[in-house]
Amino acid sequence: MATFWVENNQRISIKNKDELKLMKKSGEILGFVLYEVEQFIKPGQSTWEIDQFAENLILKLGGETVFKGYHGFPATTCISVNEEVVHGIPKKEKIIKEGDVITVDCGVNYKGLITDSAITVGVGKIDVKLEKLINTAYKALEKGIQTAKPGIRTTEISKAIESVVNKEGYGIVEDLSGHGVGLQLHEDPYILNYYDGEPGPLIKEGMTFAIEPIITLKSNKTKTLSDKWTIITKDNLPAVQVEHTIVITSNGAEILTKRPK
Ligand code: MG
Ligand code: MG
Repeated sequence: MATFWVENNQRISIKNKDELKLMKKSGEILGFVLYEVEQFIKPGQSTWEIDQFAENLILKLGGETVFKGYHGFPATTCISVNEEVVHGIPKKEKIIKEGDVITVDCGVNYKGLITDSAITVGVGKIDVKLEKLINTAYKALEKGIQTAKPGIRTTEISKAIESVVNKEGYGIVEDLSGHGVGLQLHEDPYILNYYDGEPGPLIKEGMTFAIEPIITLKSNKTKTLSDKWTIITKDNLPAVQVEHTIVITSNGAEILTKRPK
């Protein structure tokens, strides 16, 4: 069973070897599913079709879905298009078209261990401005992961992400953040994408985190639609979210949701 590191009212799980083995398998399935989803996405598809594709593949690979039923969420993936920031609900009537940017966020449960990961993809040819926004999110994610190691505080990850995003002048959505993951979809600690002045808890080997920069083209102000799930930018300009689940190793971090290549 996992042990827990408790600090400042945060209870952070440290997974044992057996749990990490299962989490690796969970991440392998999810990494493969998102890789396949990326190849699958084409103009003219409904977001529902993409969700079905992901769900079928997870089940075929021996995993279970995580998001479906989570606080009543109705689908396997969150699919957020253009101004939708996160938590978009896949729908038959929501058709994607050339030039859209689409974020697919997904979770997999393998024998009780959960991983969480997201990709943002351009549909067909997209504006260079949007390509740059997506690339910056991936760079911020990479920088955050490279920074993570035992003995530092979680805010070092936050600062690393923020520095990449700020350099390009994009917005950082402050109400949404990375988090602990594994035994549950959302565990302590929160890992913000900006520095809020608090030191954050100490990082230890065996902790597992979902790191997820969520950034906007201009303003970081958001609102929630009447479906009570979909969060969109107030200025209706595009936002993107990219995410990996990582495990803290003895001297750094390893990505558990790596794509096959
Ligand atoms: Mg996610
Ligand atoms: Mg997450």
